[in-house]
Amino acid sequence: MAKDRYDAIVVGARCAGSPTAMLLATKGYTVLVVDRSAFPSDTLSTHILHPPGVSALQRWGLLDQLIATGCPPLDTYRFDFGPFTIEGAPGTADSPVAYCPRRTVLDKLLVDAASEAGAEVREEFTVEDIVIDDGRVTGIRGHDKGGQSVTESAKVVIGADGRYSAVAKAAGAERYNEKPPILQGYYTYWSDLTVEDDFHTYIRPGRGWATAPTHDGLTLVVSGWPVAEAEANKKDVEGNVLKTFDMAPEFAEKIRGAKRAARYSGTAVENFFCKPYGPGWALVGDAGYNKDFITAQGIMDAFRDAELCANALDESLSGAQAFDDAMASYQRTRDEHVLPMFEFTTMLATLEPPPPEMQQLLGAVHGNQEAMDAFARVNAGVTSPAEFFSEENVGRIFAAAH
Ligand SMILES: Cc1cc2nc3c(=O)[nH]c(=O)nc-3n(C[C@H](O)[C@H](O)[C@H](O)COP(=O)(O)OP(=O)(O)OC[C@H]3O[C@@H](n4cnc5c(N)ncnc54)[C@H](O)[C@@H]3O)c2cc1C
Repeated sequence: MAKDRYDAIVVGARCAGSPTAMLLATKGYTVLVVDRSAFPSDTLSTHILHPPGVSALQRWGLLDQLIATGCPPLDTYRFDFGPFTIEGAPGTADSPVAYCPRRTVLDKLLVDAASEAGAEVREEFTVEDIVIDDGRVTGIRGHDKGGQSVTESAKVVIGADGRYSAVAKAAGAERYNEKPPILQGYYTYWSDLTVEDDFHTYIRPGRGWATAPTHDGLTLVVSGWPVAEAEANKKDVEGNVLKTFDMAPEFAEKIRGAKRAARYSGTAVENFFCKPYGPGWALVGDAGYNKDFITAQGIMDAFRDAELCANALDESLSGAQAFDDAMASYQRTRDEHVLPMFEFTTMLATLEPPPPEMQQLLGAVHGNQEAMDAFARVNAGVTSPAEFFSEENVGRIFAAAH
């Protein structure tokens, strides 16, 4: 039997793939990570990184590098519902702030960290096929920039190849909790936009948008409408985006005094979970769990997957635990953690007005700083929606309001 050249091959080298490769290489495994992109490069995504994602960078010794790029820290989240604004701190004492780093910067930092940890990084390498032998994934076949075809083998192939994952498809990863695209989003960058250094979300009937400062003095502005309007609105994206901003006249005026510094990028995404493992394969990041971007959870979720999956694979590769047991535990931990946020996210993505009882609750949260901080922490993925919306907590908020 041919010997596996690597312990692990990771397909995809962005938020999920590079940290997974880095963590496995740090544990002493031989790792190949490939990506068809060259780095630094951009990808279709906005890039709010909530405090738990910032904590992961800190654990990995990468936060100082991000801070050194001059990315402004965001210590306040504002949710402007029109009649009132909920304004709170998203983090904890250990990790108080969020950032909005350009993916050109963040992803490059992650790829370099994987390489420095000892992983072999092959950029501009496109995977064409997943090699399957007797029902077990054993490697990849692909080509480099020069077009030369290469086959590589490993004990495990990890799909970190995003929401259209070829690894998930080839392995027949079973999907569950599926929901079709709900929200169509568009984003771009503006210069000379006078907004506070915070993450500011505007919620209006059938519309939502958010701003956050990023590198180079630019402000990211992302807006969305229901996917049912996507076809009609795509004929005039800018006109419809500006019409959306008119729902908050003060903000509309600021935008009209600013300069757009990039073209609009936009998409709508499917919502799904995949079983993230099987014989010879594993999935991390969007490849294994994808959801609407309205709550901006994907990057930190990818970071958490990388840690959980690398630990589970270590258990299995070191012989401490059977592969299926270790990976079932990874899946269980992931799902228990993200399921309440998945439901909250897909509910928000409809952009429908909150039901009356939710409106009453939000009214009671407004002005109660402790509750406003807690609400910001829910959106930041620090506190579970299940905890915040529990009968006990809701009762406490209403009691404080009377
Ligand atoms: C419009 C939009 C806005 C978003 N906003 C936010 C936000 O503000 N905050 C947040 O946390 N998340 C956000 N997300 C989600 C976030 O982008 C993803 O969750 C995150 O990028 C997942 O990282 P990943 O590494 O799993 O996948 P990706 O970032 O998609 O990376 C996959 C990589 O795999 C490579 N690849 C794929 N196929 C192959 C192949 N065959 N061969 C070689 N390489 C391959 C690709 O080149 C790519 O580099 C947003 C998403 C969208 C669509």
